[in-house]
Amino acid sequence: MSQLEILAQHRDALLLAEAIGWLHDYRKCSDEQLKVQAANKAPKDQALPRSEATDPNSLSGRYNILTSTNLQLPVQSNARTVTNLFDDNTWRQDLLGLYLSRCHNTAHFDKQDPAGGKQSYPGIQISSPFGFERPVLNDLTSKMWALPWASLATYSKTERQNLFVALRNLFPQVGADTRRPTNEVDLWSWGLLVGALYKTALAGALLSASTPPDAQNLHWRLLSVRVDGLGYLFNAARLPDLLSRQELLHDAFARVCSLLEETYPLANEVYRDEHGSLYVVPDLPGLLGLTNSQGVPLSQLILQEFAKATLKGRQALQLGGEITPVLVLEPTPWWGQDPNRSGSDELPAINAMLSPGVRAQADAEAIEAFWNSRIDAICTVCGLRPQGPARKAIERNVCNICEQRRLDRSQAWASEQSHETIWIDEVADTNGRLTLIVGQFDLEGWLEGRLLDSLLVIAPNEGTTTTKTASFSRVQRIWQTTRQFWREVQAWLDTTLSDDRRRVLLYLDQEPDLGPFHVYELDLGSTSLSVVWYPPQADGSGGYLISADNLNAVARRLGAERHILEDAVIAAIWLEDYLQQQFMQQTRQLILHNPEATPGKRQQNLLAGRRLIRTEHQDTAYSTAIPILAEPRSFMALVPANRSLDILQQIKLKYEREMGKVRNRLPLQLSAVYFSRRTPLRAALDAGQAMLKRKTMTTVWNVRSVVQGSLPADTCDPAKDRTTKPGPGRTHHAFAIAS
Ligand SMILES: [Zn+2]
Repeated sequence: MSQLEILAQHRDALLLAEAIGWLHDYRKCSDEQLKVQAANKAPKDQALPRSEATDPNSLSGRYNILTSTNLQLPVQSNARTVTNLFDDNTWRQDLLGLYLSRCHNTAHFDKQDPAGGKQSYPGIQISSPFGFERPVLNDLTSKMWALPWASLATYSKTERQNLFVALRNLFPQVGADTRRPTNEVDLWSWGLLVGALYKTALAGALLSASTPPDAQNLHWRLLSVRVDGLGYLFNAARLPDLLSRQELLHDAFARVCSLLEETYPLANEVYRDEHGSLYVVPDLPGLLGLTNSQGVPLSQLILQEFAKATLKGRQALQLGGEITPVLVLEPTPWWGQDPNRSGSDELPAINAMLSPGVRAQADAEAIEAFWNSRIDAICTVCGLRPQGPARKAIERNVCNICEQRRLDRSQAWASEQSHETIWIDEVADTNGRLTLIVGQFDLEGWLEGRLLDSLLVIAPNEGTTTTKTASFSRVQRIWQTTRQFWREVQAWLDTTLSDDRRRVLLYLDQEPDLGPFHVYELDLGSTSLSVVWYPPQADGSGGYLISADNLNAVARRLGAERHILEDAVIAAIWLEDYLQQQFMQQTRQLILHNPEATPGKRQQNLLAGRRLIRTEHQDTAYSTAIPILAEPRSFMALVPANRSLDILQQIKLKYEREMGKVRNRLPLQLSAVYFSRRTPLRAALDAGQAMLKRKTMTTVWNVRSVVQGSLPADTCDPAKDRTTKPGPGRTHHAFAIAS
């Protein structure tokens, strides 16, 4: 049997081992545990029992079925019951227990003893790695018992997904330790890593040619699967192109993840950003050369899976060879915490694995197949395949695949009465201007583990100064926190930029000959209105042109008075009245152009002889923010230019509130690229990418004198000061105009 088939054969057992790792410290997710660790612990307070079968407060008592559920793998002769493995007193019994013990230690040697620091119950706080605290959830014990425990008895890929989601929601809200300052160790990042190490160690043991490695001798490596994500994303002519590329990359990374974590369970993803993933894998010789039953090596299987990425499962829209990932196996293995505790801890080289840039590269053979004896112009979106062959695609100078992907986004937008937008014109403010907000954390020193030395477990006035260990899970929490920061900014933008603006619908007397879900420009004399053709659907919906524009801006260009422009609903009604007056009550001709047609055809009227018979408006309000990136390091979003300074100010405030304690070691660069709605998107994205390439300069400042008194006022206000120079502990701002 091939090596990968051996893993597939033991899939359910390996996934169960992973779940045991995730859950192994479940008893910490309880009110009992909070009370036991509290400064005001009462004599009667006790942690939850380990596994007494008759005790209704124990796992065995609650879920009796787990006392007969086994973890069985041919690395040892006897099976282990699940409840038995959850009892750390039994870990010394056999290899399955010893491996779990080793993974437990290697994942979290960050659990250092502080000097005191106990909190009082209730009111216990959990901290971010940067010292920002929030309260631990209430009623923990009942939430922990409500986890899908019974699913472990019939565990498989489906149950894995459910358990993962349940744990991802609950465990990050609980500290594995409640003592300050180690209350930043949350139960999820801890369990997640133990699960990854345990599963991969057992996969490695299954494939070991001789006897499985001794638990003390377990080693792992990182495997990176990366592309030039930004290069691929930003080589987009229009927003729907960028958004479909975003979805394709997401699908590609998810497919590889499923291949490595579930199909052949020998890896776990421990880092993901816009360029790809890092996986923990066992330290096995020739890992990427392991084969399946057809003799295909793992490296090839990863590339094949990546190429299958598509939109909505449609095979015709597959990524194919447009972009191929680069696979790198970490050159040196590591064991995490030194098992002998003699100080030889070894950390994975996360930063080094992320540092070398990957060039965007296509699979020449796969692309060649599209050219097969054709002599056509090249597609202006992908720059790889020939234009066409469909007529509508050729008219827009794109290949069928890029055309279909673009339409797919547009169709979803039109048919779902979307709360989001995919159109530059809908984001642009009343002056037709947009801003690309770009944010970047400099995580280099943190991912290397170097800057963790600057955080103290024991301060000089409390005893022997002790700094925080640069453990794997601590490093993981750093990048998870910065990613969460950007995700929260993104969610806040969606809410704050939603108002009651509406879209207008235009019904015609006869069905026009227009491309379904294509964007056109309706001539209004002094200006134009962007509209999308939504053809009649089988369910009776559609059959109209829908606006894809900021109606306030159009009303302004048509000369509407100031008070009309102050309210999005009034502006929409004003414009609807204007359209009725011009095209229904008066005899003005409808003129519609295709802005993407070749210059000769651009002025052709596509609605000659058609009449407007009715107008309506959609009741869906939508957000004028378009999220592009919210990754551990980078953030990008398109917003209306007139809201940009306020948004920058709010991000800065959030940063100061949540990361203020480390602001001199965790620099945040915030930039804004201003451009008009007519500026090619690529130009704005190029400027944004240049902002992301800017490096933070680190300098050492010596204190020469200390003066008592109040601090001078902070003048770093982007709304007033556009030339703030970088200074110690200051957010840096840069502004650029793309034109
Ligand atoms: Zn193309």
